[in-house]
Order: sequence, then structure tokens, then C-alpha cells
Amino acid sequence: MFWVVVNCNSYMHVIIISMGVLVTADIGGTQIRVASYPRNGTQPIQLQRASTQSSTGTAFDRLAALIASIWPQDDRVEAISVASAGPLDPETGVILAAPNIPGWTNFPLGKRLVERFKVPVFVGNDANLAALGEWRYGAGQGHHDLIYLTISTGIGGGVISNDQLLLGHRGMAAELGHITVLPDGPLCPCGQRGHLEALSSGPAIARYVNEKLAEGEASILAPNPNLTAHEVAEAANRGDALAKAAFARAGEYLGQALADYLHIFSPSIVILGGGVSKSGPLLFEPLQETLRKRVMDPNYLKDLSIVPAALGDDAGLLGALVFAQMKLAST
Ligand SMILES: [Zn+2]
Repeated sequence: MFWVVVNCNSYMHVIIISMGVLVTADIGGTQIRVASYPRNGTQPIQLQRASTQSSTGTAFDRLAALIASIWPQDDRVEAISVASAGPLDPETGVILAAPNIPGWTNFPLGKRLVERFKVPVFVGNDANLAALGEWRYGAGQGHHDLIYLTISTGIGGGVISNDQLLLGHRGMAAELGHITVLPDGPLCPCGQRGHLEALSSGPAIARYVNEKLAEGEASILAPNPNLTAHEVAEAANRGDALAKAAFARAGEYLGQALADYLHIFSPSIVILGGGVSKSGPLLFEPLQETLRKRVMDPNYLKDLSIVPAALGDDAGLLGALVFAQMKLAST
């Protein structure tokens, strides 16, 4: 809040202007994070987190309690903005399906939050909003055409085209992890086969290693249903041929998909986030080699930056902040 003194027709007026506070939330399968920000600032006033899964109460109860815990006492909240796993409808604020959050199928998250907190609520796909955050405050600053890809348990995406977040009809665009790279390939968590997420996500890399071990391939890794991509990366860095092959395969499919994205969106920057993207050359060398082979014209690669995400765990919260700033500015 700040005060402006105005000299008008010889009367002195003191106008109290409240810039207000924006509350943002990022809801993933394992963690809910909430933060409050000044309307035009990026430093959180408060930040809290809690587990999404718990034996007591619902995910919505925990979200509402977290938001209440950071609700400012002496400032007006202008809006709540939520980044959530999808698919979801940003127009209605309905979560259509969130497989990792029990009970969130056709769940009216926006309506429930409006009823509880009596302020405008905006809801967006977490990867879409992370793209917005990286564009405005992170690795994509200054770019007009951007692709964001997060590679972890799943593969999510967001596209900025001509300085606009691509939402599409019903707001369900840019599901970059769910394009077919291997027809009739492995089953994707979405129910379809051969999607990028089924070939290059962390679980897909671990599953490939387990399949090859079952076929008798030699490796320092032992069959393990709980194997993680991080453990596979450690084995690869120790020279394990099967582990290196698993990352090479994931990188090749990412390169294949990325060539298609370049043809469709022609971005000037590709930003890669998520835990698997931290695997370094194991993933990026095969990715870039495949990209060079698959692109239809080398001009797509001219001046193209492929860079790691800059905002880390804060991408969803900051993206939700940008989303709310843009929504409020347009009303
Ligand atoms: Zn899929």
C-alpha cells in the first residue's frame, strides 16, 4: 500500500492506493506450493508448501488451508492464480483429469476457491504457466516465440507464439508430451500408445532398462521396479552401456519431437526443465544429433537457443503470477 499526495485546485488530497496482493499456487502430484506476491513484484511475501497426498483431508482442504495460512491481514488480495496438473479448462477452472490427485476428475477447482475466498480465481495448466514464467522472468526473457518442455515423471509443454500463450480451443493446447513418436509403441499414462512421454520421461527410461535387464542384457544395474532415471544416469556416468543406451534412446525421441515442434512453431528458444533434463550430455548429445538429422531445413536451427530452465521449482508459482497479471490487465 502507498500514499499519493495530489495538489488539486489548491486543496491537498491524500489518495490511498492499494496495489494489492496476488496469491498463487502450484499443485503437483507430490507437493502443493503457495505464495503471495505484490501485484507487480516477483519476490514472494510469503511461501508455504505441503504434501498433496495425505491420509487426512482432501487435496482441496490442504490447498485451502495453505492459502488461508498466507492470506494477508492488511492488504487486499486481488486474485488467486493456480497452476495445476491437467488436462483442465482454464475458462471454467475445472480440472478435467488429474490422475495423481484423488477425486480431481471434473473437479470445479476455480468455483470452489471463489466460494471459499471470495476473490477472482484463475486456473491454468502447470506446464503452460511455467512457460509463461520462464518467458517473462526466466530463461526466455526477450524472446517472442518460445517452447518450454518439462521432462520428469511426465512430459509437459507450453508454447509462447508471437508473445501470446497458446491455449487453443478449451485451453488444452501444447500437450507436447503427448505427440506420437513411435506408432503402437509403449503405453502412455494418458492411455494412448507411443507418445513422447511413454519413451522419454523418467519412468520410461527406467522401464526400458528393466525390460532390457529382463532380456538378459549386462549392466551394473539390477532389475528394480522402483528404479529411477536418476539412478540410471548415475550408472551411465560410470560407463554402463545399457544405462547410456537408455538415455540415448530417450534423447533421440526428444530430438525427433523437437524437430516437429520447430516445424510447427518456429521458436527462437527451447527451454528444457524437469529432473530428467538435468542429465546433461547423456540426453542432449543424442537429442541435438537427432534434431540436426530430422529438421527439414537448417534455417530452423539458425540462432535457435536450447537452454535449461532458469526458475527451477518457482516456475509454476511465477507463471501463475504472470497469468494473473495478464488476466487482471485485460479486464
Ligand atoms: Zn500420452
